[in-house]
Amino acid sequence: MFDYSPPIEDYRFILTRVIDFDIEMAQLGRTDVDADLVASVLDQAGKLCADRLHPLNRPGDEEGCRLEDGAVRTPEGFAQAYREFADGGWMSLSANPDYGGQGLPFIAQLWLDELMSATNLSFGLFLGLTRGAAEAIAAHGTDELKATYLPPMIAGAWSGAMALTESGAGTDLALLKTRAEPRADGTYAVSGTKIFISSGDHDFGGNVVHLVLARLPDAPAGVKGISLFLVPKFLPGPDGAVGERNTLSVGSLEEKMGIHAQPTCVMHYDGATGWLMGEPNRGLAAMFTMMNAERLMVGMQGLGVAGAAYQQAVGYARERLQGRSADGARGPVPILEHADVRRMLLNIRGFVESGRALAGWTALQLDRAHAHPDAAERARSDALVALLTPVVKAAFTDLGFESAVEAQQVFGGHGYIRESGVEQYVRDARIAQIYEGANGIQAMDLVGRKLLLSGGDVVAGFFELIASDLDEAAKAPGTAAIVVRTREALKALRDITKDLGGASVDAVGAAAADYLRLFALVALGWMWARMAAAAVDDTPFHRAKRDVATYFAERVLPRSQALAAAVAAGSAPIMALAAESF
Ligand SMILES: Cc1cc2nc3c(=O)[nH]c(=O)nc-3n(C[C@H](O)[C@H](O)[C@H](O)COP(=O)(O)OP(=O)(O)OC[C@H]3O[C@@H](n4cnc5c(N)ncnc54)[C@H](O)[C@@H]3O)c2cc1C
Repeated sequence: MFDYSPPIEDYRFILTRVIDFDIEMAQLGRTDVDADLVASVLDQAGKLCADRLHPLNRPGDEEGCRLEDGAVRTPEGFAQAYREFADGGWMSLSANPDYGGQGLPFIAQLWLDELMSATNLSFGLFLGLTRGAAEAIAAHGTDELKATYLPPMIAGAWSGAMALTESGAGTDLALLKTRAEPRADGTYAVSGTKIFISSGDHDFGGNVVHLVLARLPDAPAGVKGISLFLVPKFLPGPDGAVGERNTLSVGSLEEKMGIHAQPTCVMHYDGATGWLMGEPNRGLAAMFTMMNAERLMVGMQGLGVAGAAYQQAVGYARERLQGRSADGARGPVPILEHADVRRMLLNIRGFVESGRALAGWTALQLDRAHAHPDAAERARSDALVALLTPVVKAAFTDLGFESAVEAQQVFGGHGYIRESGVEQYVRDARIAQIYEGANGIQAMDLVGRKLLLSGGDVVAGFFELIASDLDEAAKAPGTAAIVVRTREALKALRDITKDLGGASVDAVGAAAADYLRLFALVALGWMWARMAAAAVDDTPFHRAKRDVATYFAERVLPRSQALAAAVAAGSAPIMALAAESF
């Protein structure tokens, strides 16, 4: 097993040099937090993840989860690690202090998600779903539900799960059939079967709180007839402790390609007692509180896996001796000397470091959206988070998977053999492209909805911000390549964005995936320009930042022109082939 090294120096660099974290926090009146505090929290988190989660990653993958007499058994060591995370307060970093949370800025939470995903993606999902469910309860639950459920969930004593998907209803939730019958006591009897429910059950103790989408008897058809219910595994007693078992059960565990240490459950709800959350028939909107939180977390799964795979591949490339040096004088040499191997490693690094910075910037917008004293600024930041959420979710997970494959390629045949451990990253990273809204759906959300926010003003403002930051970055020495190439990519993106206004359904669908990748390249280039401009010292760390920025400028950003051309081609080449000719 290689030693995972948490990227604390990078976090510190981004906080202090790239996003002016202390100034931003002061504007929010947060005199209690600064870059030092966040970096030291992440330092502790990084050690815990490296020492406790990373060693469980491979054995957890080998052992997997089991269903014994209807109860889920997680792999050896998971329950104990979960308790340690709960006892250490890691479940509650950004949660509301009114319910026992620590109220730290979202940046600490999002980067903790990176650390957990890098060291044990299956484990991190338990925490991510609990947090998302708690956020939804905080936003849509009654005072009684909040008082009962939030403290134990935020403390990590109880966990959360999200139950949307059914065999006949995946992307299209309008088709879901689970029903909820009102009872005289104000609760509901929830009945139906859900599939693919992550963290649907476990052996960590406490309660499992399911947020379930279902239909009321008189509900209209389609998405306007979906309501949200809180359905716990155990009904809480009057003292808040877990009481009688509710009528929900795990039918089976899905056999799957990766994340073997994560129980993906078929769940049966047999008249299970549930409580309505939010308005009747407005459940999908309420569920989006949870889904938006999960989408950012899932984006961090892609980033985390890419970062870990990079570290492992670099270690291997330094040690593996094959071939001769370019001048033929020495051999065998470490494969790190070969240009093609360096290209693969730089592709990964070009994504990971700029993605980490973009995630940090997005997290800052989340804090501004919650706490900025000026309502217009809160609204502006909220809209920017909405714009960037599908980009972080889809681009980070696509690039995360591509990164895992490139890291595997660096290992050659040994990367295909289980013993190397790198193939687990490929298998684990794959799901992040699919769940929480498949990436194609994310791309359509960006093009079909998010570009239209405030009549296009939100995206226009975002592009303007990038343009003015590029002007600023251009003043620093050594930034010419990244500034020029990002400007070119931004121009292509702006031009194509104009053409997409009011596009037909087919045109949106045809453009979406390439458009989202182009958008992501511009956003990542923007972060590289900011980082290169900030990396002015003559240290190996700062020199490396400038070198990787130049790689990204010259070797990655030119792809934006090809993507723009593909988007400009429209839907005709996609729709021309007759269905029967496929
Ligand atoms: C391991 C795992 C864990 C999961 N965890 C959870 C969980 O915790 N809770 C939960 O509720 N669900 C969970 N899911 C379900 C997951 O979110 C869905 O699989 C996903 O949303 C896609 O739904 P589907 O599988 O039915 O695919 P489909 O909806 O059948 O889609 C198939 C393909 O068609 C495309 N497509 C579908 N509709 C359209 C359209 N209108 N326009 C263009 N393209 C379209 C999709 O992008 C996709 O590529 C999990 C799934 C897995 C595999």
